[in-house]
Amino acid sequence: MAVKKKIPMRKCVGCGEMKPKKELMRILRNEEGEFLVDATGKKNGRGAYLCPSVECFQKAVKSRGLERSFKQAIPQEVYEKLEKEMSGIEKG
Ligand SMILES: [Zn+2]
Repeated sequence: MAVKKKIPMRKCVGCGEMKPKKELMRILRNEEGEFLVDATGKKNGRGAYLCPSVECFQKAVKSRGLERSFKQAIPQEVYEKLEKEMSGIEKG
């Protein structure tokens, strides 16, 4: 009998689905207050999780899911920068 390991699940702020943390991307706010895409999931800071797809990113923008996660307004230029980074590392 194989023992099932617990997979850490996180909720995508775009589509709202629970998915294994490993399959999600992390949007991070670092100590300087900068927003960036954390593809490795290892950087320090406050994070929000998103499916690695621009579609979910855009849903998060529309529903203001990211702003809720970070409890602050996110400037348009930050969204544009993040969207560019997302499309660069989109996994499919
Ligand atoms: Zn999603």
